[in-house]
Amino acid sequence: MLIDPYSRVIDYLRISITDRCNLRCIYCMPPEGLEPKGREEMLRYEEIERVAREFIQLGVTRFRITGGEPLIRKGITELIRGLAGLDGVEDLSLTTNGLLLDRYALELKQAGLRRVNISLDSLDSERYHYITRGGDFHQVLRGIRSALEVGLNPVKLNVVVIRGVNDDEVLDFVELARTLPVWVRFIEFMPMGGESFWTPEKFIPSEEVKERVLERYSLEALPQWSSGGPSALEQGLSPAFHPETRSAMVGNGPAIYWRTPGAVGRVGFISSMTQHSCHRCNRLRLTAEGRLRSCLLADEEIDLRPSLREGGTKEALKRLIERAARSKPPGHQLSPAGRSHARGQMSAIGG
Ligand code: SAM
Ligand code: SF4
Repeated sequence: MLIDPYSRVIDYLRISITDRCNLRCIYCMPPEGLEPKGREEMLRYEEIERVAREFIQLGVTRFRITGGEPLIRKGITELIRGLAGLDGVEDLSLTTNGLLLDRYALELKQAGLRRVNISLDSLDSERYHYITRGGDFHQVLRGIRSALEVGLNPVKLNVVVIRGVNDDEVLDFVELARTLPVWVRFIEFMPMGGESFWTPEKFIPSEEVKERVLERYSLEALPQWSSGGPSALEQGLSPAFHPETRSAMVGNGPAIYWRTPGAVGRVGFISSMTQHSCHRCNRLRLTAEGRLRSCLLADEEIDLRPSLREGGTKEALKRLIERAARSKPPGHQLSPAGRSHARGQMSAIGG
């Protein structure tokens, strides 16, 4: 078992398979994109599988593929098939901007992908085009529909809420989750990247988003799935929330989920800035070039590639992974009031 110095069990690995993307979201990438790493620098699929096998030996059972945009890397279906076929994989998911999902949903599902998170920051096609610098909203909708049709479950929608950009659409997203069986997740905007678009004025705490939702809807709390963390009810929430006994399923992360009465979907909040869930963080991250990161916001990385390419033994790989787990910081220090930015690029680390 992989346990860090703060007694957190690591059972989840996020694997970025590319730093390239077919979008240029205003909060994630500069308009001209980032200098892509050479193809030789990216881990090959067989190398990723080797790393995953070693993680499984150490008790990690849940894997997510991300990017950049993972669906633009050739042969993604074969990678999913390979990972899904490994003994010990209990959960295999993907984070995507959804543009190519229409084309890939069925074959990914057949290859063994369980579920998918799709980023969608606006329900207005022109605004979506503006935020993503060119994305086709209707193409993402087709991707969402395909994901639901082929039975990827749950389908989660990631919405980064940015004041003055898309915060007027919060209720539209809640309405979407009433009629469509999707889990809408409102994500706090994080100060990532050097010359980032982030400013404190654009930041909206989840509590404020939730208050806006509560002005129109009541929210039923769902028991939380995440390992070891306090449930929504334990977190001292208002009596307006009604507990619901049916178990919430499938998630590895920091989201707290709710349901508006009668809705087929759910609404979640990811409050990485205002309510650090670092004390129950269960993950490591592998960058596309094969570097292990112990925290999204810590810059220290442990390079697995030399060991993978220069005949390193399984034992050597295991030691590097254990070293990454040991280097996991207790938490991050970012605060919404600060003007400082985290140095890493979301598109390179995979979110
Ligand atoms: N390209 C894929 C996508 O957009 O879903 C996967 C990679 S993307 C880096 C992963 C997630 O990170 C997306 O949901 C995106 O919205 C989120 N993200 C990127 N920059 C962010 C920021 N500054 N604050 C919060 N979330 C961010
Ligand atoms: Fe690409 Fe995802 Fe970043 Fe948007 S958020 S630019 S889709 S990596």
